[in-house]
Amino acid sequence: MTTRATELLRVVHARPGVTRADAARLIGVGTGATTELVGRLGQAELLAEAPATPSGTRGRPTTSLIPHPRGPLIAAASITHEQWRVDVVELGGGTLVSVREDIGERSGEQIVAAVGATVAKLRRDYSDRIRGIGIAAPGTVSRDLMLDASSLGWRDVDLAAIWPKADIFVAGNDATLAASAESHRGLAAGASVALHLRVEAGLGGAVVDGGKVLVGALGAAGEFGHMPFGDPTVTCPCGARGCWGTAVDGSALARLQGHDLPRDPISYARRIISSSDPEPAAATATVATALGRGIAGLVNGLDPDLVTLGGLGVDLLTAAPERIEEAYRAGLMGFRRESPPPVLAAALGDDGPLLGAAEEAWTALLTALT
Ligand SMILES: [Zn+2]
Repeated sequence: MTTRATELLRVVHARPGVTRADAARLIGVGTGATTELVGRLGQAELLAEAPATPSGTRGRPTTSLIPHPRGPLIAAASITHEQWRVDVVELGGGTLVSVREDIGERSGEQIVAAVGATVAKLRRDYSDRIRGIGIAAPGTVSRDLMLDASSLGWRDVDLAAIWPKADIFVAGNDATLAASAESHRGLAAGASVALHLRVEAGLGGAVVDGGKVLVGALGAAGEFGHMPFGDPTVTCPCGARGCWGTAVDGSALARLQGHDLPRDPISYARRIISSSDPEPAAATATVATALGRGIAGLVNGLDPDLVTLGGLGVDLLTAAPERIEEAYRAGLMGFRRESPPPVLAAALGDDGPLLGAAEEAWTALLTALT
C-alpha cells in the first residue's frame, strides 16, 4: 500500500466518519486523487463510504469515510482484578461486540484459557477478520509476554497462550495503556507532559511526554504505587515496604477500619468510598489525603501540564475532593501553588485500559497493512 493510503486510513481511524473532503485536506491530496485512493481502499475491503450528514455549508455533497463492512478488526482485551473483557474493535475505534466474565477464584492460567477460548470463538464468528489482539493486564508484562500481577498472586502467566502465533500481539500494563488512551482520545490529548494515575488494587500510571508514553528500559516504568510514600510498617505484595499503593487502595481502607483484606478489593473500596457512615468516611478521608500528598510529590518531580486519575482515583475525587486538594496543595513547592496542574477524572474512565490496548493493536495493524 502507498504512504498516502496508510495516511488516509490513519485519518479515518483517528476521526471516524470524517468526510472525504476533510480527509483529502488533512493528507494534502487533491479531490481526484482522493477519489481514486478511496476506490482502491474500497476494493481492498479496508474502507467504505456513506452519505455525509449535511453540514449546512454550500458546495458539492461529500461522503463520510467509514470502516468497510468486511474490513479487518482487532480484539482488545482487559483483565482487571475482578473481571476480564474482550471487545471486537473496528477501524475508528467502534466496538462491535463485548464479552465479559468475572474472574472469581481462578488462577492466571485459567483466565488466560478462558480469554483464549473467547478470542478463538470471536475469530470464527467474524470469519477470520480479526487480525490481531491488544491486551491490558493488571501487572507488569515482560517483552516475552509473561505477566506478573503481584496483587493477584500471579507470576509468570503466559499471555501469548491467549492467541498463539497471532500476527499482531501487543500487551501491556493496564495503567500505562490507560495513560496512552487518555493522551490519544481523552483529556490529555495535546498536553506537553501528562501524568496518569490509576488506583485499583495498588496504584499504577504513566508519564506521557509529547504523546509518547515513557515505558522505561525494561518496559516497567510507571510503578508509582511502589514509591515509598506510604506507611513504612506496611509490607506491599511486591515485597517492598511503605509502598504508596498500600496507602490509597482497598487494602488501605480495610486496614484503617480493622477489616480483613477483601477478596473483591475494587468493589469493596467503591462501597466504602461511597458510604457516608462516620467510620468509612474517615478511612476515605485518610486515603484521599495520602493520594493528594503523593500526587504533589510526583508533580514536583515531573512537572506535568495535568494529572488524570482513573479507577478508584475517580471515586476518591468525587467523594473527598477537598481532602485531595488540600494535601496536594500542601505538598506542592511554593512556586507551583499559584496555578497548579489540575487533577482531573480521566475522560475515558474504566474503559481506558481496554481502549489503550485497542489503540496499540490498531497502530500495529495499520503499520502491517502497508
Ligand atoms: Zn510495592
